[in-house]
Amino acid sequence: MYEIIDGKKLAADMRAQLKVDIATFKEEQKREIGLAVVLVGSDPASQVYVRNKVKACEETGIKSYAYYLSEETTQRQLEELISSLAADDNVDGILVQLPLPKGLDSEAALSLIPTEKDVDGFSESNIGRLAMNGQCLVACTPNGVMKMLESKNIDIKGKKAVVVGRSNIVGRPMALLLLNADATVTICHSKTKDLKKECLEADILVAAIGKPKFITADMVKEGAVVIDVGMDRDENGKLCGDVDFENVKDKCSYITPVPGGVGPMTITMLMYNTYIAATRRVGN
Ligand code: NAP
Repeated sequence: MYEIIDGKKLAADMRAQLKVDIATFKEEQKREIGLAVVLVGSDPASQVYVRNKVKACEETGIKSYAYYLSEETTQRQLEELISSLAADDNVDGILVQLPLPKGLDSEAALSLIPTEKDVDGFSESNIGRLAMNGQCLVACTPNGVMKMLESKNIDIKGKKAVVVGRSNIVGRPMALLLLNADATVTICHSKTKDLKKECLEADILVAAIGKPKFITADMVKEGAVVIDVGMDRDENGKLCGDVDFENVKDKCSYITPVPGGVGPMTITMLMYNTYIAATRRVGN
């Protein structure tokens, strides 16, 4: 019998706890916690993401500074803004909503975010520290997955974990986190020779592929923990994950649904990272 890992509930519980911790921080430090969110252009999906991030700040007691820049913004203007936020003591976290409009160099822009304010955890320094199992700010989605595993006391040490997908924002940091938690980790991607064989070895299987219902029941070991990061659309345009949930679930010990699984954790982890960044900046 499988158990669902309910990301919606866990995210709500975490936000409630963060609200308390943030209020305590503000009272003790006599200052706000600030998150700057920079959006360039008018991509509708990015606008929704930024709105949701600002809303989550309001809910948890973080002061948000939202910058809406026009499509015509130059690299220099963007870099000047990021540099001023980097130097601003009221700002504990800086997030540049990706993707940036064509013509802007996101790597150059992101490199101006100081490591300790990089609440997305995308900078070379934070990824490098993660690779060395050092103190860092961890990318929100994979960090949310770790919290989900932790919430069910799922044993990771010595387990065989397979991560399908190797993107910089999900697959790679996910694999590093599982490795740092003492799993034996395999990373699969589009050039993997026998994906089914690799997946069948997994005690913990994380799908971060971007293909609807791609992981089928014949690819899952009996009793596996299956984490579905995917946010895809099925043939009817309905939101679904990378895992064929209906057919896979009965083989699992734990499984995350889509929607209501990993998705709700991501913005919550951004609030968490901002809180952590603030506490580190004041030396706690
Ligand atoms: P991505 O950058 O497109 O990476 C997809 C990865 O899947 C790549 O590494 C690719 O391999 C691999 N892949 C593609 N086809 C494959 C195949 N047939 N067999 C094995 N591997 C294959 O995507 P992403 O940004 O990591 O996102 C992945 C999914 O997670 C998407 O559905 C996205 O919407 C979702 N997502 C959700 C959240 C959330 O908050 N829940 C956050 C971020 C992303 P190659 O490297 O060889 O091309």
